[in-house]
Amino acid sequence: MLLKIPRLYDSHTHFIATGEFAGGLALGELKSASDVAKIPLKSSYYRGEWLMGFGWNETAWPEPPHKKILDLIFPDHPVFFARMDGHRCWVNSKALQYLGFASETGVLMEKEHLQAWDRLPDYTHEQQRGHILTACRVFNKSGFTHVRDMSCTESLWHNLVSLSEAKELTLAIEENVTSHDLNDFESILDLCVRAKKTETPYVRMKGVKVFYDGSLGSQTAYLSKPYNGKGDGPRGTPLWDLADIEEVLKRTWAAGLDFSVHTIGDEAAHQIVDLARKVSAKGSVGRLNIEHAQLLRPETIQMMKPLHVRCHMQPCHWLSDKVWLEDKLGDLYKYVFPWEALRLAQIPISFGCDSPVEPPSFLRNKEALEKSVQAGIRKFNGDLAVAHSHPDAGFMDSYTVIEEDKIKEVVFAGTKLLL
Ligand SMILES: [Zn+2]
Repeated sequence: MLLKIPRLYDSHTHFIATGEFAGGLALGELKSASDVAKIPLKSSYYRGEWLMGFGWNETAWPEPPHKKILDLIFPDHPVFFARMDGHRCWVNSKALQYLGFASETGVLMEKEHLQAWDRLPDYTHEQQRGHILTACRVFNKSGFTHVRDMSCTESLWHNLVSLSEAKELTLAIEENVTSHDLNDFESILDLCVRAKKTETPYVRMKGVKVFYDGSLGSQTAYLSKPYNGKGDGPRGTPLWDLADIEEVLKRTWAAGLDFSVHTIGDEAAHQIVDLARKVSAKGSVGRLNIEHAQLLRPETIQMMKPLHVRCHMQPCHWLSDKVWLEDKLGDLYKYVFPWEALRLAQIPISFGCDSPVEPPSFLRNKEALEKSVQAGIRKFNGDLAVAHSHPDAGFMDSYTVIEEDKIKEVVFAGTKLLL
């Protein structure tokens, strides 16, 4: 089968982290926490003084990760090792000292993890340019010509603008900046507004993103029923006050920017859509992006109809999560990965891969959509090529040819790329 897809789009990525992971210290193969002692180190793994590493997964380790292990092996440098799911980091005592955090174990989760990430020193200009170009190559090799990034910073924006002026970018990039609380919102809004004035044909500033809950894997996604069907067990908690979200949402829309919310649990998504509905009813208008949309109740989908909403889904997450999904969700399993329910309600959806949490791959998403039917997930009857194509035909004319499940040709802005 031959597919020619215009503007092949990954609608939810962490762009610079994709480049950073691809060229950085990979921890995915560690068999135990103390195995970190055996890894050969390169100077490029350092971010200022900090040793960075990515992708550990402790599920098969004999002992859990602990700061003591890192203190012994790396006494002289602060260490920041991000977990594979992007929701936790494992740090040493030196790092905790720099960050001003207290932690018994040296494993920071969710909000603290994200705040810690924000407090790391900048990479050098050259390191960051390297990560950008590496990320472009990673996406191009997987066939993508368009990406939507959720993790912009001031320095990333400037580097992207200068690389696009030098015609070195081989991707069309949409940027969003993540706000963690009301304290950083002011400066983030300011960055978005300034960046919007310096957009280029390659890079666009879209708006503000916030995290409203965590992940299913760490049972921090906010559900309407307890995890594992357990009577009165935990069901996750929201990361923001809804009143604070309301303020941030209104101001983001008033500035003409998109508002994007990470919601994994059905209750998280429901509360955000309900809030957007109330705010809209009072006269505010703007675009709402629901990130992940992994679990949506039918009434939440109905409530989306009058809003300018788009759901950004990553079918490939199903491939990684399918083993525990049904146990963890209990009754709510019937609402998981509702791509077909969204299509039937005519809510626009875009597919992506959440790289570097999952590798960027159109083909893995295709595989997930096909195989998930056997797990009782309703078949997606829409056009996968459309859901994986950037909706704006005026944004960098490009196409990708896929034949027999191989990326055959990528043409970006009229130039055939060497893969
Ligand atoms: Zn993400």
